[in-house]
Amino acid sequence: MYSLVPLIFMVNYIIVTGGVISGLGKGITTASIGKILQLHGYRVTAMKIDPYINFDAGTLRPTEHGEVWVTEDGGEIDQDLGHYERFLDINIPKSHNITTGQVFSVVIEKERKGEYLGKTVQPIPHVTDEIKRRIRTAAAEAKPDFLLVEIGGTVGDYENVLFLEAVRQMKLEDEKIIYVHVTYVPVLAALGEAKTKPTQHSVKLLREIGIQPDFIITRSEKPLDDVRKEKIALFCNMHEDEVISDSNIQNVYGVTLLFEEQQLCKKILHKLGLRKEEQELRTWKAYLTKIAKFDKKIKIGIVGKYFDIGAFKLSDSYISVIEAVRHAAWNNNLRPDVQWIDSKLFEKHPKKIISLNAYDGIIVPGGFGSSGIEGKIATIQYAREHNLPFLGLCLGMQLAVVEYARNICDIKDANSREFDKKAAHPVIDFIPEQVKIINESRYGATMRLGAYPAILKKGTLIYKLYGEEKVSERHRHRYEVNPEYVTTLEEYGLVFSGRSPDGILMEFMELPTHPYFVGTQAHPEFKSRPMKPAPLFDGLIKAAEKRKEKK
Ligand code: GLN
Repeated sequence: MYSLVPLIFMVNYIIVTGGVISGLGKGITTASIGKILQLHGYRVTAMKIDPYINFDAGTLRPTEHGEVWVTEDGGEIDQDLGHYERFLDINIPKSHNITTGQVFSVVIEKERKGEYLGKTVQPIPHVTDEIKRRIRTAAAEAKPDFLLVEIGGTVGDYENVLFLEAVRQMKLEDEKIIYVHVTYVPVLAALGEAKTKPTQHSVKLLREIGIQPDFIITRSEKPLDDVRKEKIALFCNMHEDEVISDSNIQNVYGVTLLFEEQQLCKKILHKLGLRKEEQELRTWKAYLTKIAKFDKKIKIGIVGKYFDIGAFKLSDSYISVIEAVRHAAWNNNLRPDVQWIDSKLFEKHPKKIISLNAYDGIIVPGGFGSSGIEGKIATIQYAREHNLPFLGLCLGMQLAVVEYARNICDIKDANSREFDKKAAHPVIDFIPEQVKIINESRYGATMRLGAYPAILKKGTLIYKLYGEEKVSERHRHRYEVNPEYVTTLEEYGLVFSGRSPDGILMEFMELPTHPYFVGTQAHPEFKSRPMKPAPLFDGLIKAAEKRKEKK
């Protein structure tokens, strides 16, 4: 069997696996390899394989797995797809995320329908065939020159074995394929020496599965020296120049330049017998060099709750929000200083709210559930009353409406139905079509998900920021501004500057008497890219800079 999907074009696959430890930044590595190929003139897209059984990332807790990324077509995906979209500046569909849950549910459904009638349905070949079918379908649909496939987890895990087996078979079936293995090279403090043994063992495991890597990318604190490169090459049956050093750097977008310096792109092309196309590296390099020099800081506080896991703080839960702030700051020649603040702090110590004064701007991002909510409302009230630039994202906008209703419209017990099921004044309530779904407790992919258009009101700040009347942003929510309260809120000065095309759903809000008090039901952070900041983040940074200058 050559291919389960007819291929009329020739795609090159780059398979990225990980070894030694998790959390190596394989997503960034994959995105960076893609970026250098793209900068050399090739059409590139990427996909992520997540070996967990969840059908998608929609039901995962952010502190456990990082942010849930939302695609244009409404997929709830691992945050790595966000890295690919930001680096490559493309939209990636939800079909570019494969989970064990998806693969097995199709195989079992087919078996029940009798599609394998008479056969014993087995992990190999039936499950591996389904994996290959999905990878090849993604290639056939996107028709890229390169499809990068990142396999989640670490070599040696039980759960990704079938995925590794599937991509092993692909080479056998004559696909043009390059295997990249990303490992970790620790430096033991007591010895002061970089140790390559974990990498050697990891490659040994990979070769047991039948995969000989074409390249090893070593993650490490400091650049890998030639002695270690030689050693890894020898023990892993490779040439020295196939061992690429990926040491820690200030700005993740700069990993592309590390790879370029080591001619990774040229080496990949050489292996595949491809010519080096024209280069578009200059603009990208100039951008990275320029932003590294900005020294004027802008301090933005993100007031959220998904920060702690055990004794550690995890900023990954809000990675796209942080990236969007960075893109916008760079666009304004500023150095972003992003701090996260746990909103529960202001519930325990209300007086500490004045610490917000030290920030140039505040963001209240998306979230679910009732913990930390009153702290966020207090934050919003402080920002509103002290002319502190504020951007509310999804839950952040909902809470801004609650705050405004309570403190300005004098609806003292205003709340969101999410936090008070029996609320007398649910200024935020279910989206009607969600009522049924919620009553049945079906949680997977049941939200309003993906890109939706909105019509902006001419003359508003938000209209000015977007520069057009019809805009589209990605969504992920179950609740909405309750239409019954819109007139009252507007009578008291709040402006709903963007609505769904039928006029029913409030998509954007602003407060004209404030320098920057802006909210959106959407998540504009998902469309922010380097060199193309999201308009509402750009507006926040501009207002924050003005405030800083006035101080
Ligand atoms: N929990 C809120 C809702 O479901 C907000 C969701 C979010 O911030 N993404 O509507």
